Amino acid sequence: MKKNFIALLVVICVSSFAFIGDPFKVSNEDSLISVKNERDEIFMLLAYSVVLDNWQTYDSTRGYNIGGVLVNDKGEVVNWARNSTKVCFDKTAHGEVRLLQSYLNDEKTRKAKIKYVDGCTVYTTLEPCMMCSGMLIFLKTDRVVYGQTDPGYGLNIERLQSDIVVDQDTIPANSRAKSLDNSLCKSDCTKSLDSAYSKFKGKGIVDFLYKDEARRIYIQAREKLLTYEVVNDENKKILKNAQNYLKKVEEKEVKDPCIKYVNR
Ligand SMILES: [Zn+2]
Repeated sequence: MKKNFIALLVVICVSSFAFIGDPFKVSNEDSLISVKNERDEIFMLLAYSVVLDNWQTYDSTRGYNIGGVLVNDKGEVVNWARNSTKVCFDKTAHGEVRLLQSYLNDEKTRKAKIKYVDGCTVYTTLEPCMMCSGMLIFLKTDRVVYGQTDPGYGLNIERLQSDIVVDQDTIPANSRAKSLDNSLCKSDCTKSLDSAYSKFKGKGIVDFLYKDEARRIYIQAREKLLTYEVVNDENKKILKNAQNYLKKVEEKEVKDPCIKYVNR
């Protein structure tokens, strides 16, 4: 009787596994990254690496350790820039402002009569401030992907995307604001920066970004970009282009958009 019962149990277990699959087996799909997320991670690692290439300390003269890259709808990097508020003696010289202004003022862009950056994605190492968020919306940027979150001054695109109520009337947010796709890049480096900043006791986020602790994470980002192994074959070319672009930045083969402003 007991033997029969055990045999019955075995039969039930085996048939359950056949129907629902092995519950102890880790699904391969869970560990996969989508083509879009992988592409975002690659370009975000490039943005971190561009900033690392000219790392600033308290005594440095360029600006803050913030920057970004601009990618067109074909997945090509078309510009890069870093915050240059000190060297330009201009508090509006944020990475995103420089990135888009220098792109729109470039000879090639002007010749093509391009006035907006629709179809382009901005990858920026830090969540955009209110000024840059307004500019990104005004210039019809297709997507913004940011790295580190700014708990003190963030959520600006979300604020601009919100309807407001005035005298009991709902005023809808600007349609350009609503159509902007704004996303956080959930790479390990971003998570490390967010986690390290949450424990930081100093003055603020730009102060944190001068520290060796932040620099170490930026170094990891560069190493990750250079040794990256894509999960999605579609991104092989994207990765190669991003790695080659970094080489050009590091070897000063592509124009540093700051120079124009310094010499004006
Ligand atoms: Zn800004």
